[in-house]
Amino acid sequence: MTQYDYDLFTIGAGSGGVRASRYAARLGARVAVAEERYLGGTCVNVGCIPKKLFSYAAHYGEDISHAEGYGWRVARPAFDWPALVANKNREIERLNDVYAKLLTGAGVALLDGRATLVDAHTVELGGRRISARYILIATGGWPLVPSVSGAEHAISSNEAFHLSQLPRRALVVGGGYIAVEFTSIFHGLGVDTTLVYRGERLIKEFDADLGVFLAGQMQNKGVRILFRSNIKCIERAAPETGCALQVTLADGMSLATDCVMYATGRAPNTRGLGLESAGVNLAENGAVLVDANFQSSVPSIYAVGDVIDRVLLTPVALAEGMIVAESLFGDSGRSLDYENIPTAIFSNPNVGTVGMSEAKARERHGEIDVFRTTFGSLRHQLTGSGEKVLMKLVVDKKTERVLGVHMVGPDAGEIIQGFAVALKCGATKRQFDATIGIHPTIAEEFVTLREAV
Ligand SMILES: Cc1cc2nc3c(=O)[nH]c(=O)nc-3n(C[C@H](O)[C@H](O)[C@H](O)COP(=O)(O)OP(=O)(O)OC[C@H]3O[C@@H](n4cnc5c(N)ncnc54)[C@H](O)[C@@H]3O)c2cc1C
Repeated sequence: MTQYDYDLFTIGAGSGGVRASRYAARLGARVAVAEERYLGGTCVNVGCIPKKLFSYAAHYGEDISHAEGYGWRVARPAFDWPALVANKNREIERLNDVYAKLLTGAGVALLDGRATLVDAHTVELGGRRISARYILIATGGWPLVPSVSGAEHAISSNEAFHLSQLPRRALVVGGGYIAVEFTSIFHGLGVDTTLVYRGERLIKEFDADLGVFLAGQMQNKGVRILFRSNIKCIERAAPETGCALQVTLADGMSLATDCVMYATGRAPNTRGLGLESAGVNLAENGAVLVDANFQSSVPSIYAVGDVIDRVLLTPVALAEGMIVAESLFGDSGRSLDYENIPTAIFSNPNVGTVGMSEAKARERHGEIDVFRTTFGSLRHQLTGSGEKVLMKLVVDKKTERVLGVHMVGPDAGEIIQGFAVALKCGATKRQFDATIGIHPTIAEEFVTLREAV
């Protein structure tokens, strides 16, 4: 008889929790995972997947109008929001099912309900106490909506996926990737969209050129962006105005809209979990503090994913979960390298980036070379869209190593994924130059940039 009910008890069946649980079970551990809301977590239900499906939907609208330049005559297209939501829901249900099968197929016990921590080796779920040698906190994050007057009329990304009606006008608040993605989604679906951002540069954690260029492209497509702006209050509009909400900005400007969506950050999901009383140290924002092995201040308790507030991306949560499973039940002492994590933003146009921004490279490496080009792609020569592409390489002058690859343009995520491998391998500019391009593509520009700016 072993001392504990399970070797590993995971709280949260999102990206990190599912991956850790499956791998631990595969390595022979007796594993249970508790999920209170939806299998697959944020990514599958209210994150990456439904967001990308909505983004595809939004792009179709533009593609249809661009097709004219290629000789297609299309009758005025009509968009059916309930059909998109229903089809998206069907796909998510399919994925929920896939996750259930992955877990049960690996021998993981799947427990429905909210789990809380009792002590270093015990959780409580539905009035039942369950013991485990190790406990993994993988409870993710939750959107933050600031407490402005009338905030109860606003939604977050969670609700945006389930709106019963597509608003005629929408106001998105924020300057990060979720804000620009939803602005592009609403705009692409025909919604009159305004982005309100208190800062001066969108997606400010990335290379400065990306945010500036993206804002210009979005504005050219008809998105209204109000920089250095913030909401003071949101009120229900009078019925005769024909819109649902009246928004007053800090500078006194008043805007009529049907939907206000806050995308102003996310908080680690640790409230009421019982972590503090079990002795787990938390950061000020509630994130679980862990070491390089994802171990918390209580040796039997680990945490991965958004709840540790390092890099809030699904592939990172997956990698962290895998490392925990391997280090607890396998023989590897692998750690995670957080350098050169590629990422994409599914705005319109897309953004893809890996490695250091120009500013970070200057700070760390001193002398650098920057290669940059902006151009209209071949595709848009016939569409008349005027959309431009930005491509940029940041190179260490001394070693010639490519430190950063950045792009705003179609399929930027697909393109940057390959260059992320090159950066991981330490590729130099000389090796980029020696690579033959694929013609005619946008991506070939990355291997034909010759003149530093
Ligand atoms: C709108 C949006 C778009 C995104 N787009 C992308 C993208 O394009 N690419 C990308 O890489 N990342 C994207 N992300 C981020 C990505 O979704 C997260 O980084 C990822 O889901 C984190 O995984 P996780 O396992 O840490 O947490 P989650 O996936 O959030 O899973 C946590 C799970 O724990 C459950 N839970 C919480 N508390 C308890 C409890 N006490 N008991 C039982 N269960 C509990 C929750 O219900 C949830 O299912 C996006 C996020 C959002 C919000």
